[in-house]
Amino acid sequence: MAVRTVITWGDPRLKVNSADVGEWTPELEQLVEDLFETALAEEGLGIAAPQVGINLNLAVVDLSCGEDPARKTVLINPEIVLTEGSQTGPEGCLSVPGIHEVLERPRKVRVKNRRRDGSWEELEGEDLLARAYCHEIDHLRGRLFVEYFGPVKRQLIQRKYQKNRR
Ligand SMILES: [Zn+2]
Repeated sequence: MAVRTVITWGDPRLKVNSADVGEWTPELEQLVEDLFETALAEEGLGIAAPQVGINLNLAVVDLSCGEDPARKTVLINPEIVLTEGSQTGPEGCLSVPGIHEVLERPRKVRVKNRRRDGSWEELEGEDLLARAYCHEIDHLRGRLFVEYFGPVKRQLIQRKYQKNRR
């Protein structure tokens, strides 16, 4: 297992509409392990493959931060099929270090997700889990959470981000 380097805001690989995962391979299993390891090391609740420079529709979510293996979720070619309600709360991203902004998300989502063996399942997420699913699936479509804000707010965020990194 290895912690991989997380690429950050401004890297073109974060803007790509990623490709679907095909047949499951040992390399993909290794990538999943590494993603969990990387999220844990960086204290994130999840991470998507594009964030380590691999443009595949693959992401992991673990709200228990390594405490509960049963809560580790692997998203493979996921698609949001239903959203309900809304929630407002702070959001951050390992690829946008130092920035936390309040963002509205659905309160509940249903996600069509492929399992490793190629069969499909439906996952349900509420509250923080719904937010995590939306956030990671956005990464697979080349979208960062800071891109939800209008130009003025976004410029402010960008300035703060650059200041933090100096
Ligand atoms: Zn993120």
